[in-house]
Amino acid sequence: MVVAPAASEIPANDAIELLGLDRAGMAEVLALLGVPERQQRMRASQLWHWIYHRGVTDFADMANIAKALRADLARHCRIGRPTVRRDLRSTDGTRKWLLAGADAQEFEAVYIPETDRGSLCVSSQVGCTLTCRFCHTGTQRLVRNLEPAEIVGQFMLARDALGEWPSSARNRLTNIVMMGMGEPLYNLDNVTQALAIVMDNEGIGLSRRRITLSTSGVVPMMARAGEALGVNLAVSLHAVRDDLRDELVPINKKYPITELLDACRAYPGVNNARRITFEYVMLKGVNDSDAEAHELVRLIRGIPAKINLIPFNPWPGSPYECSTPARVRKFADIVNAAGYASPVRQPRGRDIMAACGQLKSDSVRERRQRTAAVEEQPA
Ligand code: SAH
Ligand code: SF4
Repeated sequence: MVVAPAASEIPANDAIELLGLDRAGMAEVLALLGVPERQQRMRASQLWHWIYHRGVTDFADMANIAKALRADLARHCRIGRPTVRRDLRSTDGTRKWLLAGADAQEFEAVYIPETDRGSLCVSSQVGCTLTCRFCHTGTQRLVRNLEPAEIVGQFMLARDALGEWPSSARNRLTNIVMMGMGEPLYNLDNVTQALAIVMDNEGIGLSRRRITLSTSGVVPMMARAGEALGVNLAVSLHAVRDDLRDELVPINKKYPITELLDACRAYPGVNNARRITFEYVMLKGVNDSDAEAHELVRLIRGIPAKINLIPFNPWPGSPYECSTPARVRKFADIVNAAGYASPVRQPRGRDIMAACGQLKSDSVRERRQRTAAVEEQPA
């Protein structure tokens, strides 16, 4: 027999966040609200449809759920979104949101429209424990993992902003790249829970082929991620020698290039139709010589791969400059001649600080300046 919990045990004041819960989690909440066991699965499916297929945030809109249950849900639960701190639009159509969790910690999401797709660059952590020298996020001290609700919430919020509910084939937002702040493989459980929701066919229904997870090279987690998610993998290579990669991507000291490439060869499901993307940030005079381009194609021989050349996006105080356009072209030519597609990623949204981690730091700096100004005032 299912015993309904005493009213005093149920958190009141819409304290239970439904966003980020899987179906079992929703059924548990329904049990807590006294929904009989035989109805829980069906009601959880209905909630799922309204939340993840329709994007509804108000229980009153859930037409096929009994009024009394809607009222109960509204009393005890909510369907939230991350708080929007800033909403910036670039002249090139890129949109960037500075977001905050319930604890006021900030993270970012960026929407990048292209001719054949629209990608949302999603963050997995507040800050990052790794300290890649060219990356602004790596300079931020405060780090915590984002919750599943905060990860799915970035996508839900972008869909809200684009007015794209319910999910349909005409949506402009078609792809997710886990290339925002943080190292997704250091928050794999939450990333997996969030992406499982995003890929569920009865909700958002994004295909795994439209999701790319980018890692700096957390070798022991790569196979697990591939098995759990089956999404596309991008690897931040950025250097072809261990001494240089040790400096640019310090996790290389733990997992050097040969180990990283072995893990790429073993990545579940990798084949010519599902290639691994190697990301290579173009740093002037650091990693952009012809010899390095030749070494790059030699290193990845045998791995079904694409190479993504990323113009370095400078930030105030960054120790590097971007390679010249002519150098990037020459580097790309060598890689192309070896038979690899190597699109040069266009810098997008420079006018809104779309480079990873920049907006958050700007906000922190502004606040510090404001605080300093207040402190400087005479008593
Ligand atoms: N932590 C993961 C995913 C987030 S970073 C990773 O490192 O792969 C996403 C991509 O942006 C990585 O390839 C990263 O190296 C690159 N990147 C970071 N800062 C950059 C900058 N200032 N200019 C260009 N690319 C940058
Ligand atoms: Fe972290 Fe990736 Fe930035 Fe390196 S490049 S500091 S792993 S977010």
